[in-house]
Amino acid sequence: MSELTHWINGEHVKGTSGRFADVFNPATGEVQAKAPLANADEMAIAVAGASAAQPAWAATNPQRRARVMMRFVALLNRDMDKLAEALSREHGKTLPDAAGDVQRGLEVVEYCIGAPELLKGDYTNNAGPGIDMYSMRQALGVSAGITPFNFPAMIPMWMFAPALACGNSFILKPSERAPSVPLMLAELMKEAGLPDGCLQVVNGDKEAVDAILDDEVVQSIGFVGSTPIAEYIYSRGCANGKRVQCFGGAKNHMIIMPDADMDQAADALVGSGYGAAGERCMAISVAVPVGDDTADRLIAKLLPRIEALKVGPYTSGNDVDYGPVVTGAAKANIEKLVQSGVDQGAKLVVDGRGFELQGYENGFFVGPHLFDNVTKDMDIYKKEIFGPVLSTVRAQTYEEALGLAMDHEYGNGTAIFTRDGDAARDFANRINIGMVGINVPVPVPLAYHTFGGWKKSVFGDLNQHGPDAFKFYTRTKTVTARWPSGIKEGGEFSIPVME
Ligand code: NAD
Repeated sequence: MSELTHWINGEHVKGTSGRFADVFNPATGEVQAKAPLANADEMAIAVAGASAAQPAWAATNPQRRARVMMRFVALLNRDMDKLAEALSREHGKTLPDAAGDVQRGLEVVEYCIGAPELLKGDYTNNAGPGIDMYSMRQALGVSAGITPFNFPAMIPMWMFAPALACGNSFILKPSERAPSVPLMLAELMKEAGLPDGCLQVVNGDKEAVDAILDDEVVQSIGFVGSTPIAEYIYSRGCANGKRVQCFGGAKNHMIIMPDADMDQAADALVGSGYGAAGERCMAISVAVPVGDDTADRLIAKLLPRIEALKVGPYTSGNDVDYGPVVTGAAKANIEKLVQSGVDQGAKLVVDGRGFELQGYENGFFVGPHLFDNVTKDMDIYKKEIFGPVLSTVRAQTYEEALGLAMDHEYGNGTAIFTRDGDAARDFANRINIGMVGINVPVPVPLAYHTFGGWKKSVFGDLNQHGPDAFKFYTRTKTVTARWPSGIKEGGEFSIPVME
C-alpha cells in the first residue's frame, strides 16, 4: 500500500501529523493508499511558502502566466489516459467519465489563457480636467480551495487555474477520498513552468480545513461539497474576514411534459440519473412527469433501459455505464435512504438492493433503483441521496411540477423536457434555480459561462469559472490621477466634483 504525500514548495512532502485516511479502490473495496491528514503546523508551512512565492508571481506579466496555462493544457492532453486511470481507480467512475472530469477542468484552464485580456481593466481618459481614472484588478494574495471527492480533477482546476492566472498563489485541500489526481496536477503545473510555492496541495480533513479558515494570510476560500459543510465554511470564513464562495448539495428535478419525446426523456433520465452512480451535483435525482398518463409512459420507457444498465469496474471496458460508489459508508447511506423510501410508502419499481458483482463482492457497487409515487414529505425526496436512485414524483399540472422544483431547498440544476417553446420559456424565466436545461438533462455551463446554483446550493455572491472567477480572485483598485499643468498653484479645499 502506498503512502501519499503533500505537495509543498514544488516537491512531495511526507505527512508529519501521524494521522492518515484510507484511500479505497471502490471496485474491490481494498485500501490502496494512505493519505496524510495535515495538522495546523503543516498547513502553516504551506501557507508561508505560498505567501513567499506570490508577489513575484503576481508581478509576472499576465501573458507569461497564461503561457504556463498553455503548457499545462498540453501536458493534461499528453497525460489524459494516466490521469483518467488514476481517477477511476480512486473514485470508481468509468474511464470515459474520468477523462470527461479532466476535460471539463482543462476547458477552464483554456479559458484562463485569456487572462491578459480578462485582467486589462478599465480606463477613462479626461475624467475631469487633466484627470484620468483607471481601474485595475489585482490578485488577492494567497487563496485556498477545498474540494469534494466526486470531481477530483475538474473542481480543483476550476479553482486553481483562475486563481493562478490572476496572480494569486493557491492552497488546494482536496478530498481525502480521492487525493492522487490533485497531486498529479500539481506535478504537471510545475512541469508547465509554475514557480515553486505557487500551488500547494495539502491533504487533510477538518483539522486542515480549520487551519485554512483561521489563517490570517489566506485571503479567499472556495469550497465545493455538501451543504452543511458549505454553510460552516462560509460562516466561519466570512467571520474571519475572508472572501468566501461555497457550493453545496443538490436535488435536481426534471419536468417531463405530456408532449415530450418520451424516448429522448427516458434516455436523458437514465444517463443523468445513473451516470457516475448518481454521484454528480448536477445528476437528475427527481423525475416529475406531468399527468398520470405521462408518468406511465415514462416509466414504461425507463424500465428496459434501467434493466439494460451495465454496472461494473472501470477495468471492464468502456461499455460499462457506471461503477461503484466511493466508499462503503456512502453505500450504506444510500441503502439506508432506499429503505426509508420503502418504509415511508414509495413504490420501488426497480429494486437494486442486494446487488452483487461476481468477483467484486467487496466492492462498493449499488444497483440501480427507481421509485414511483414519491411524495414531498419523504426523506428520499427531501435529502440528497448521491447514489443511483431516481425518484418519480407525479404532478397533475405544469404549475404543480414547477412549484415542486421551486419549493425544494436546493437549487443547483433542473431541466424541462417538452416540445412546447412557450412552456420551456416560461420555465426558464420563472424557476428559482441556477442552471436550467431545456431538453438537456445535465446543463453544466461551459468554461466561458459561469457555474453555480441558487438557494441552499450556494453561499456567496459569485459563481465558479467564466468571468465571475476573475472577479472572485481579484480586487478592484481604482486610481484617479491628475497631471495638470497648474498643480504647483496650491491645494484645493472643497470636495472635487467632475464638471
Ligand atoms: P463533503 O462536504 O463531505 O466534503 C467536501 C470537502 O470538505 C472535503 O475536502 C472534505 O475533506 C471537507 N470536509 C468534510 N467534512 C468537513 C468538516 N466537518 N469540516 C471541514 N471540512 C470538511 O462532500 P463530498 O462528499 O466530498 O462531495 C459530495 C457533495 O458535494 C455532494 O453534496 C454534492 O452535491 C456536492 N457537490 C456540489 C457541487 C456544486 O457545484 N454545487 C459540485 C460537486 C459536488
